[in-house]
Amino acid sequence: MTSKASAEPEDLAELEQRAGALRDENFGPEVFVRGVIEVSNYCRQNCNYCGMRRDNRGLKRFRLKLESLREIVRHALPDIITDLNLQAGEDPVAVREIILPLIETIREETNLGISVCLGTLDSKLYDELKQAGASYYIIKMETGNRDHYREIHAPGTFDQRLAAIRHLAETGWAVSSGFIVGLPGQTEAHIEEALDLLGSLPLAGASVSPFIAGEQTPFSHHPSCDFERTIECIAQLRLRNPGYIIPAISALNLINENGYVRALRAGANLATINLTPSASREDYLLYRRGRFIMHEQRVKTAIAKAGCSISEVSIAETVRQRGCELNQAKTISL
Ligand code: SF4
Repeated sequence: MTSKASAEPEDLAELEQRAGALRDENFGPEVFVRGVIEVSNYCRQNCNYCGMRRDNRGLKRFRLKLESLREIVRHALPDIITDLNLQAGEDPVAVREIILPLIETIREETNLGISVCLGTLDSKLYDELKQAGASYYIIKMETGNRDHYREIHAPGTFDQRLAAIRHLAETGWAVSSGFIVGLPGQTEAHIEEALDLLGSLPLAGASVSPFIAGEQTPFSHHPSCDFERTIECIAQLRLRNPGYIIPAISALNLINENGYVRALRAGANLATINLTPSASREDYLLYRRGRFIMHEQRVKTAIAKAGCSISEVSIAETVRQRGCELNQAKTISL
């Protein structure tokens, strides 16, 4: 089932406005800007909604070279980014051989905050990543419902994923999670469960991603999400979690040309510049080919159009300063 917007257009406009105002109250109109590098598209998981799933034999796999990544870090970072996110399929080889030494380089040679999005790993690897210098771990729940989690073949089990989030938070990571709107089999009750779950976990941030049928996946023929419902969920996420760091997702622009700006207006406060070398970007197949790439100018334009400004303080520093205060102000009810 594809979820339809549950609010009337004028109610949705009011909801977005309230969510944007709440973001301003808690963070000001400043939007964090991070860079992302997609280091590897190898993945040992088999999620039905993702083109990088292990059973997709038609995908050209890549692991970027450590030295070429160091060159990006040394010479090709936009001035406006305060954080760098290293992302990959669930690929422990890339973590050990590329990402760990790259984090050490970033820590030694820049002042950037370091985020990672690397899937469910063993606790020793989490510790090594943190010791190397990363502080923010992105690990999505994708859905708030245990049975639905199994049906979409999300990584491991629902309970293992929850345990990973709690373990990361208990061991000193700032953790961000998230869910996807419009997944096949999703009901309105599942969306409520996802919002409830994201509000109850020990998180510093969370995301709402649009379901876009992935090429070469079991879900390739399913319709994409309802755009207005996705924006509504971003606003709801903000209203329930005033202190969360909430990203605008570039794929929103694949379903609405104003998608990124609408997400910022609805309370998102994080924009991402894609720094993956162009030769590899199309094979990082989370959705479909023909990705919407946010480069520096597009990010600047979207932030200005949303009436926001660029944060000079990093996510890492903000989370460090605010500590557990980040999620204490859950006083707004819908
Ligand atoms: S969503 Fe992540 S874990 Fe699942 S197949 Fe894609 S890259 Fe792998």
